[in-house]
This record gives sequence, structure tokens and C-alpha cells, in this order.
Amino acid sequence: MSSYYIEGRDFASFVDTLVQDARVVGPIAKRQKFVFGEVSSAQDLRLDYDVTLLPPKKVFFPPKQEIARFDATTVEGTIEPIDTVLLGVHHYDVRGIDMTDFLLREGNADWNYLAQREATTIVASNVQRVAPRAFWASMIDKVGPQGHDAYLTKLDDGYVYETRTPKGEALLAHGTFRDATASDIAAAQKVHADVLGQCQQQLPYTSAEIATKIRESYSNEALWDELSRNCFSCGSCNTVCPTCYCFDMRDTWNLDQTSGSRTRYWDACLTKEFAAISMPGGLKENFREHHQSRFRHRFMRKGAYLNEKLGSPACTGCGRCSMACTADIADPVRVIKTIMEWS
Ligand code: SF4
Ligand code: SF4
Repeated sequence: MSSYYIEGRDFASFVDTLVQDARVVGPIAKRQKFVFGEVSSAQDLRLDYDVTLLPPKKVFFPPKQEIARFDATTVEGTIEPIDTVLLGVHHYDVRGIDMTDFLLREGNADWNYLAQREATTIVASNVQRVAPRAFWASMIDKVGPQGHDAYLTKLDDGYVYETRTPKGEALLAHGTFRDATASDIAAAQKVHADVLGQCQQQLPYTSAEIATKIRESYSNEALWDELSRNCFSCGSCNTVCPTCYCFDMRDTWNLDQTSGSRTRYWDACLTKEFAAISMPGGLKENFREHHQSRFRHRFMRKGAYLNEKLGSPACTGCGRCSMACTADIADPVRVIKTIMEWS
């Protein structure tokens, strides 16, 4: 849509005015790290973050979410969307949201997710510091962001604010903006181009090459054994991932044994119980019993099955899984390179 500019000295009052009118969620400091959390004033906001511990999908899809209450005769949904501005989302996390939007809309749409998603305005912001394990620069041609409503780019003395949707345009009323000049826009483009060279890791293959080779590797037991040998099935690589969306449902019954509630929880396909099912006669079956098959499943999903559906790997290059894995075996760059080069 259009490009605007706001002076640095006016930006704090823009954020403070937003906070008065809506819930604002953005990057804030947590000890030496960063998280997406509720912003109570402009002072909280840390747009200079490198990466957050968890991705912003938790705003629409919380780790634990009560979705319904029931009694003997009725079931009532409990989701109540809150008008929210999600401020300061890096482009790779916008792309993660794009993927979950697609995956949770297709087929039987997940309105428990979509209700809060539609009540949210997303303002992306440029990456000012690159996380050490990030590789999004080599994913950006595969994964361009689309689901944001506006894009904020920090220049020396202020910010360029590009609107993408009417929701992004509506936020202009909260601040003192002027039209961006051609030199403001050129400066913002240079900021984006310069940061691309700062990712230390690269994944130099096309989406199609990755999908084909990963599928071909399915039966290569030696490969998956080598890659997964030190996995202790903690599920951290799933938990921190912006594109993982599996969940478990649990019903809690009240003492009357007729009423209760249904809650969903994030699930993780690397954990041992993920694929365990009950069978008649009190038996139990686990169709991915060994950590090799669970580790393989993660890369089949991200690199092949969802890749073929999305047109790009279900990976944004955020690098969170590499940082979260104590055994240091989850890094998609290292894993996919090993698969691509295995002879
Ligand atoms: S697989 Fe790892 S690098 Fe890729 S999106 Fe998930 S957490 Fe980020
Ligand atoms: S790959 Fe790493 S983070 Fe993922 S389950 Fe195994 S040990 Fe945990």
C-alpha cells in the first residue's frame, strides 16, 4: 500500500498510545534472552532482539488452551479473541505464521486458532541483530513473508512504516507519521539487503531438490541412525519451532462426572509417547517407537511432506531448534546437508 516515516523521538509515544488502545505483544527482554510478551510501555519493547525463545505463534496457538466446556447436554466454546497488535515480528516468523495460517485453514479449518489470528494486527520489523544459528537468508527466496499488516524498518533517526493492509493503515492514527521520501525507502531497502549477508549458515538447495532427496533417503537406516544417534527425545526442537502445530487434547471431568472441559496442549513428535495408541484388550502400540524413526519423521514432515504442500520447506531458518537441542543434532542445515551429500 503506502510508505510513511516516523521520527525516533515520536516512536515511543506511538507505542504508548497503541498500548492504551489494544493489547500489544512484542519482543521484550527475559534475563539475557528475549521472548514475545505483553508490552506495557515503549520502554519494554526490544526491537534490537536477535531471536525470541519461542515464536509468536503462541499468541494464536497457546501452549495450553481451554477450548470448550461441556455438561450432559451442551458443549460451549470458550475461545474469546482479544484485539491485539503483534509488534516487531521478524520476517522469518511472519513466514512461520503464513505456514500455520495455511495449514490450519486447509480442510477442516481450526477456528480456535483463526479467531485470535483474525483479531490480530501484525507489524513486522527488520532484523537488527542476527542470531548465531540463523540461516533465514538462504530460505528467503523459498519463504517470503506475506501475513503481516505493516513493516517497520529502523533507520538512523527514525522508522519507515510500510502498510500492507487496511489494518496496518489503521495504526497510523496512533502516531505522528509523514509520507516517506524516495531516499527513506531506498535506505530501508539497503537495510534489508545488508542484513542478508550476516547469516553465518546457508542452505544452498532448492525446495524441490530437498524434497526429492529427503524422500529418497527414507529407507536409509544407516543415515538416520547416524543423524539421530544422540537424540534423547526431549521434543525441544518441536516446542521452539514456528511451523510445528501438532497438539494433544485432554478432557478434564468434574466430580459430577457429567460436566468438564476440553483443553489442548502443544505436542511434540520427537517424544516417545507421541505415536503411542491404545489397542483393544488393554494393549498399546507405538508406531514410531525408536528415536531414529521419530527423528526421520521430523525431517520427512519439514523437508518433504509439508514442503510439497507449501512449495517450500516447513522451516523458516530461524535457528531456534539448533539452539534448543542439548545434543546439538537438530540443526536443519547440518542435517539436510548430510542428507544431500550422503552417497
Ligand atoms: S526447523 Fe528449526 S530452524 Fe526451521 S523453523 Fe523450525 S525451529 Fe526454526
Ligand atoms: S533432536 Fe535434540 S532437541 Fe530434538 S528431541 Fe532430539 S535431543 Fe531433543
